[in-house]
Amino acid sequence: MRKNIVAGNWKMNNDLAETKELLGHLKMQLVKEPEAEVMVAPAFTNLYEAFQTLKSTPIQVIAQNMHQAKSGAFTGEVSAKMLKSIGINTVILGHSERRAHFHETNEILAEKVNAALENELRVIFCFGEELEDRKSENHFNLVEKQLKESLYQISEDNWKNIVLAYEPVWAIGTGETASPEQAQEMHAFIRNNIADAFNDDIAQNVSILYGGSVKPDNAAEIFAKEDVDGGLIGGASLKAVDFLEIVNSF
Ligand code: PEP
Repeated sequence: MRKNIVAGNWKMNNDLAETKELLGHLKMQLVKEPEAEVMVAPAFTNLYEAFQTLKSTPIQVIAQNMHQAKSGAFTGEVSAKMLKSIGINTVILGHSERRAHFHETNEILAEKVNAALENELRVIFCFGEELEDRKSENHFNLVEKQLKESLYQISEDNWKNIVLAYEPVWAIGTGETASPEQAQEMHAFIRNNIADAFNDDIAQNVSILYGGSVKPDNAAEIFAKEDVDGGLIGGASLKAVDFLEIVNSF
């Protein structure tokens, strides 16, 4: 059975003091047994603090990125092993901001996915089309290409460590959300595509999150769609009340 998941991507927000404050609110306000797996992704500098603060709660602390190499001369980068060594078990890969600002291609992302899985990290793999792709009705092809070139090299067994996050780029941080119908249409396409490339069991068991301007007032109708298993939340994850309202939207 696939799981419902709500993950907050804090991006490059919150210094240590702000991180401690937000963690405190989340810890205090989270219901004891949430209907979904709950995750937060603070910046690298605050991961250890966040992990220590939340380790006795149901909230998992995850990373926003990692480098594909084991170690070496990669100034400014962080490896899978480093993340594991401070207790982190999940990493977000392929976020559209990494693709756009840091030139992460499908090929680089395939290497990152492989490195994460080899180190027994769970991967939240992000992908999604730009506005031009949707306008030219190329969005299904584009999404299929992103999945094929970065993910379909993995073994069947490794799918248990994959979570997908469909994030149309035109909806990220813009206040413009995909309609629940648009999200459902794409999520169903993704599941069928995985069933064709692998098998139906894998397709039915992988959680597919939607990301792009999910807020407390639109989360419930998006999460109600059959193939939407939760959300990757940017802006609204920076306020504990908003994030937890989204967590409680199932
Ligand atoms: C994101 O960055 O993954 C995201 C979905 O951001 P926002 O919720 O702010 O659109």
